[in-house]
Amino acid sequence: MFTDYAKIYIRAGRGGDGAVTFHREKYVAAGGPDGGDGGRGGNIVFVVDDHASSLIEFKFKRKYVAEDGMAGSGKRCFGKSGQDLVIKVPRGTLLKSADGAIIKDMSSDEPFIAAKGGRGGWGNSHFATPTRQTPRFAKPGLPGEELNLTLELKLLADVGLAGFPNVGKSTLLSVVSSARPKIANYHFTTLAPNLGVVRISEGVSFVLADIPGIIEGASEGAGLGHYFLRHIDRCRLVVHMVDGAGSEGRDPVEDFETINAELKKYDPALASRPQIVAANKCDIAEDGEPLAKLRAHVEKLGLPFFEISAATRQGVDELMKRIAEELSKLPPVAVYESDYVKPAPEFGSPDEVTIEVHDGVYCLEGKWLELLVASTNFTDYESRMYFERNLRRCGIFDRLEEMGINDGDTISIYDLEFDYVR
Ligand code: GDP
Ligand code: MG
Repeated sequence: MFTDYAKIYIRAGRGGDGAVTFHREKYVAAGGPDGGDGGRGGNIVFVVDDHASSLIEFKFKRKYVAEDGMAGSGKRCFGKSGQDLVIKVPRGTLLKSADGAIIKDMSSDEPFIAAKGGRGGWGNSHFATPTRQTPRFAKPGLPGEELNLTLELKLLADVGLAGFPNVGKSTLLSVVSSARPKIANYHFTTLAPNLGVVRISEGVSFVLADIPGIIEGASEGAGLGHYFLRHIDRCRLVVHMVDGAGSEGRDPVEDFETINAELKKYDPALASRPQIVAANKCDIAEDGEPLAKLRAHVEKLGLPFFEISAATRQGVDELMKRIAEELSKLPPVAVYESDYVKPAPEFGSPDEVTIEVHDGVYCLEGKWLELLVASTNFTDYESRMYFERNLRRCGIFDRLEEMGINDGDTISIYDLEFDYVR
């Protein structure tokens, strides 16, 4: 079974906790704090794998969790970072959010971090100051990002073959490339898209996609063809194949118009893509009349027209050369831009935050706070201001006031420390 759609859940690793330890050595009294930081949680990373051609494996495994970071330990030892979890997908896989926004189009070789591992917590050695020599606290690690993802494969091909079932699309692909699609004299032999590389000359080649044939009413869901049309969405050029022999009692002109109407119903952009018309099975076109009519019809529309026989290869090389020539004038294969906006984590109730005071340091911890800190970039001024403003607004500072916090006392929230100012 060919699978080009899957839903999965991903979660990056949690950061390791920081350690509370003190330096101990013979003859050395009261060594300082030397608790190391926890390691970073592993990321979830997507990469393109050109050996993968479908999303079938995601039907069986749906949950992907990266390794957590290890806790820090004494002697300032950092915890080991969690291993990244690398997920391989076929080229052209779209990563979408649960509500359908495009997060990333996996069509280049660049790895993509879809979920970041949580930062490790700071060990107590971080909190030593001249006035605070024995900090007995450290910080827990932060959670990794988690996300429900939809994977959707949209193949990357320069040229898409469109046409009714049985007109010879798979045959054409098989004679011009090393792809070996199933060929037979019945409708819907092709149940999955096939890609083939067509080499014209040194350094000139293109990718040709053969998809299951479109049938009339496909855009209303009458057949498989419509579903697979998305695999030629990105194509730079459409080769519209027609049975030029009018076998099975068909009228080539009518067929041609029907398919174009289907393309248009599916997506007007696809219908207006540059098109080359190839009338196939010319080796058995005894009565030249249907063919001549088609030629006149197509030429009136100003489209290039080729008479070929995929079976005998007649006219095939000319068609391939023309395709390469047209492609050289066209923009590259479409890559989808991301339109995903990460939802901002919410500030919760101050009651869900625990506050502990160690040597005048107010240490805040809590579930929503943790998520917030994990997803805020504190080196960015705007983000930091947003964080502090909303922290004040949500009522935490009132709680601190009740506890007797003074101007200049330190507030410590995971790996963030700042002085309290009223
Ligand atoms: P598809 O459904 O469009 O992929 O069509 P296929 O490639 O599976 O071909 C359907 C049938 O038409 C098969 O029996 C092929 O052998 C036959 N066929 C394909 N091309 C030609 C051709 O150029 N001439 C003749 N006579 N038969 C062909
Ligand atoms: Mg086929």
